[in-house]
Amino acid sequence: MHRTTITQARELLHSKKLSSVQLTEAVFARIDSVEDKVKAFAHLMREKALEQAKAADAKIAKGEELPLLGVPIALKDLICTQGSRTTCASKILDQFVAPYNATVVNQLNAAGAVIVGKTNMDEFAMGSSNENSSQHPTMNPWALDRVPGGSSGGSAAAVAAHECIAALGSDTGGSIRQPAAFCGVTGLKPTYGRVSRFGLVAFASSLDQIGPITKSVADAATLLNVIGGKDKQDSTSANVALPDFTQALHQDVKGMKLGIPKEYFTGGMQPEVEKAVQEGIRTLESLGMQTVEVSLPHLDYAVAAYYIIACAEASTNLSRYDGVRYGYRSSKSDNLVNMYENTREEGFGEEVKRRIILGTFVLSSGYYDAYYLKGQQVRTLIKQDFENALEKCDVIAAPVTPYPAFKIGEKMDDPLQMYLADIYTISANLAGIPAMSIPCGFVGGENLPVGLQLMGKHFDEASLIAVGHNFQQATQFHTQQAPI
Ligand code: GLN
Repeated sequence: MHRTTITQARELLHSKKLSSVQLTEAVFARIDSVEDKVKAFAHLMREKALEQAKAADAKIAKGEELPLLGVPIALKDLICTQGSRTTCASKILDQFVAPYNATVVNQLNAAGAVIVGKTNMDEFAMGSSNENSSQHPTMNPWALDRVPGGSSGGSAAAVAAHECIAALGSDTGGSIRQPAAFCGVTGLKPTYGRVSRFGLVAFASSLDQIGPITKSVADAATLLNVIGGKDKQDSTSANVALPDFTQALHQDVKGMKLGIPKEYFTGGMQPEVEKAVQEGIRTLESLGMQTVEVSLPHLDYAVAAYYIIACAEASTNLSRYDGVRYGYRSSKSDNLVNMYENTREEGFGEEVKRRIILGTFVLSSGYYDAYYLKGQQVRTLIKQDFENALEKCDVIAAPVTPYPAFKIGEKMDDPLQMYLADIYTISANLAGIPAMSIPCGFVGGENLPVGLQLMGKHFDEASLIAVGHNFQQATQFHTQQAPI
């Protein structure tokens, strides 16, 4: 039962072949059997989930139809849930209980979802491996000695290991797409402004976006329908029409143009990964898509611009954790300045501190023009690159990562190597466009999943969904099961 997709679960629930309580119990039984190996969760919400499941069953009995009625969903632990902890996998928020729900949580509740728990992540979403969690690393369900990716690695691992039916993650520079690729599941970063960020703990506010991590593109469409839309609590959420994304599942892709950015295929990838991505593109051609070469000339500057802008924003966003109003407070201090220093020294992990220092540096007087301002200028160029490229095509195809899931510990001593691995995902955040990762192959003796990335025009998630769904109708990669 725990292996079902949202689409399958809904059918079973509405035809009363299965109750939400049974499905939720099956998901918790699965968690009980695999969680010591995967460690995808920061904490579980078992009792509340069973109450929600009972309530869902009562609604189903009355004939109510809601898009996620009775379906168990997991949330990355930086999405605020009233009455249960939201830790961001940081010691500084270890015991933090938000006084309100994130807008997406209210939307999930209104859609009838059952929230099973909060998933592990890199602290404050900073990282690509889940090793920066203050609690414990998460393991990749395809190979337990490998990382699930990050920072939404807990969500991706939970979906791949069937410890939930679907999950939400957040993506600032690739944190939905990269773990989805590493774990062989589907991850969609919506357009900046498509989904409310109210109640999403901020990392880099101009880049962060919440999105679905699912077992299929069809499920991503269902979830995006629920979480998308203008929210008056978030002034950066966009007032644009929210189409029914499930309609895009019926769209034919024949004749649509698929842009292949030449700068993405210059040999930076592991050969087997490149082969899987190229084969994915061939599959889309065989479905009638027409490939055109496009150029994204500023790709080489994306990582540098991103780490300047993201760290700058993080350094200001994280200044609120000072031990005064909420969160961890050091008990060692004898005056206020000491208290700030000790709290932040003890409360933040190494990577978070590195970024606060970097961000403070690039914003400081004398360096602002050389770094932050330049970073913003490069960002504008990257955005223009995508606008030009997307005039020539409907959707861009690209790799998600240069290599498959790496070994736990392999890159922890070299932060720069870790940052460089984000080369293919970061640009979509800088440009604000939607981007999706879908499984397109398996490589190596361990059969590690590889992702194909699809990027589209602002607010045109529908085209990504159409292309991704057609791909999944023609292939079986997304239905392969992790060996766990
Ligand atoms: N890996 C990137 C980073 O470390 C992206 C993180 C994210 O998208 N939250 O910043």
